[in-house]
Amino acid sequence: MTPPSLREMMQRLIGSPSVSSVSPEWDQSNARVIDHLADWCQSAGFRVERLPIDGHPGKFNLVATAGRGPDGLVLSGHTDTVPFDEARWNSDPFTLTEHDDRWYGLGSCDMKGFFALVLEALRDIDLGRLQHPLVLLATANEESDMCGARALLETHRRLGRYAVIGEPTGLRPVRLHKGIAMEAIRLHGRSGHSSDPALGANALDGMHQAMAELITWRSELQTRYRNPLFAVEVPTLNLGHIHGGDNPNRICAECELQFDIRPLPGMDLDELRSEIDRRVGSRLQDSGLEFERISLFEGTPAMETPEDSPIVRAAETLTGHSAGAVAFGTEGPYLNRMGMQTVILGPGSIDQAHQPDEFLALDQIGPGTRIIRELVTRFCMA
Ligand SMILES: [Zn+2]
Repeated sequence: MTPPSLREMMQRLIGSPSVSSVSPEWDQSNARVIDHLADWCQSAGFRVERLPIDGHPGKFNLVATAGRGPDGLVLSGHTDTVPFDEARWNSDPFTLTEHDDRWYGLGSCDMKGFFALVLEALRDIDLGRLQHPLVLLATANEESDMCGARALLETHRRLGRYAVIGEPTGLRPVRLHKGIAMEAIRLHGRSGHSSDPALGANALDGMHQAMAELITWRSELQTRYRNPLFAVEVPTLNLGHIHGGDNPNRICAECELQFDIRPLPGMDLDELRSEIDRRVGSRLQDSGLEFERISLFEGTPAMETPEDSPIVRAAETLTGHSAGAVAFGTEGPYLNRMGMQTVILGPGSIDQAHQPDEFLALDQIGPGTRIIRELVTRFCMA
């Protein structure tokens, strides 16, 4: 038995909704996508593990392994998609639609298509002849809380030595991306009549101080850290949302500020958070305000795989492009922490990801399968 045709695999993956979202009204199980992949991997000769994720009912990771040993190649992708705005689609997001030499459908490029291409590429490869293991990894919730990648990291299990994540990069290798954290600062003071400031503790006054501190810190970070491989060479901190107070003639008792930080590789999220606590805390020491910082989500670390890593070098040779940096986050930092040197390289363009009328251009398929086949040959058969 062999997996169905490429087109049939695409149709079934696109036709299996697997939206992940932090909003419960959008969030769906990814079980159907996992089931399809498990069936096809099994029929291609892999040993298949379907791993439920603790605390996330209906969510699964899939690990499909051929060959044995600790030093294999992992081909990795996420099974979920972002939510979609059906009214802005010109076709059904859950039906594979071919038009203008493109395959349209939700997840076509980000990134269900990658799995179909991997299985297509493996058709000509005899898995019985592998010298090093080949692992196909399919994760849950990359687009929301990354619980799939986190759960794998917590198993402390070694899946391989090298990994390729098939996110849409237009088949150009990527070895760096920034991280992201979203934080809130809440200041709690005391309201009172505005005619006598001594009657209260003004949270807006305090937030002015906190913002000044953050802006000073941002300049320092941007002086200290710089990486010319990124389009925006420095770490950023964006003040994005503020809310506080209720009336011009009342002392403002509560104020909340939300901001994001996009660190460069080498900057640690937890250290950045401690630094905020230390700096804002000391600035507000004598303000009479209570200061609280909340992480709005767990955050994604920055990623960097060394430029001389064999997987980076191979990806560069096979694509003819030197490995670069991108502005979006991936599961790469988690895979790196699991001991795999990881490169991001996949078919389709990030410009189409997270958009209505998402598509995979058909001219990505030939080169995409060729690159996957070559990587497997180099890292598993030699
Ligand atoms: Zn993606």
